[in-house]
Amino acid sequence: MITDAYPLVLILLGPPGSGKGTQAKMIQEKCEIPHISTGDLLREHIRNSTDLGKEAKGFMDKGQLVPDSLVLDMLFERIAQKDCAKGYILDGVPRTLPQAEALQSYLGKTIPVVINLDLSEKQIIERLTKRVTCENCGHPYHLLYSPPKKPGICDLCGGHLAQRADDTEAVIRKRLKVYQEQTAPLIAFYADKKMLHTIDCSVNKETILEQILSILPHCS
Ligand code: AMP
Repeated sequence: MITDAYPLVLILLGPPGSGKGTQAKMIQEKCEIPHISTGDLLREHIRNSTDLGKEAKGFMDKGQLVPDSLVLDMLFERIAQKDCAKGYILDGVPRTLPQAEALQSYLGKTIPVVINLDLSEKQIIERLTKRVTCENCGHPYHLLYSPPKKPGICDLCGGHLAQRADDTEAVIRKRLKVYQEQTAPLIAFYADKKMLHTIDCSVNKETILEQILSILPHCS
């Protein structure tokens, strides 16, 4: 439960596969604030064949970033909704300096908590090539370390599990390159503002969650 300092804006930074989505889902339950993943929102647009979905798909399939203006419009529309009044967890956004600057202007005096989930490239590739994700609720599974109870079926909602189109090794390498070039500079951006906390994500997900919660005075 949130006990003070509204709203709690938590930004999860980190390369693809560092566990942002997994942690965000667990933090969402503890802190009772919504998990907003721009990747999930974009995939929903693709499933619904919206204009945004059609435009975004080409970039996503190649492991490239969707243009800032499209992502920012979608993000600001989402965080203006009522369920975000007490705060929210951002997963996968901001991903470029212009996105970080636009978000900070939107937030005004609200100071976000930024947590950088750190993981080596070797571990990222091992995680992502063995990841399957629920097509319905987005819950991720690792085929070796956290497999579903029934193969191909989501434990949480019974949805169908599939490998994401961008979780093949070639696209993962491209996404990591894009991360290094465009997203890693955000680490210095937030460190300069004294907003950054870094956590080693090579340990198990429960230990990572404990460390994150110890940074958040708001959640009991
Ligand atoms: P994710 O689910 O966070 O790994 O995102 C999957 C893909 O969606 C990325 O590789 C990008 O193509 C696109 N995407 C998600 N979030 C953003 C963002 N903040 N800015 C630009 N592209 C994004």
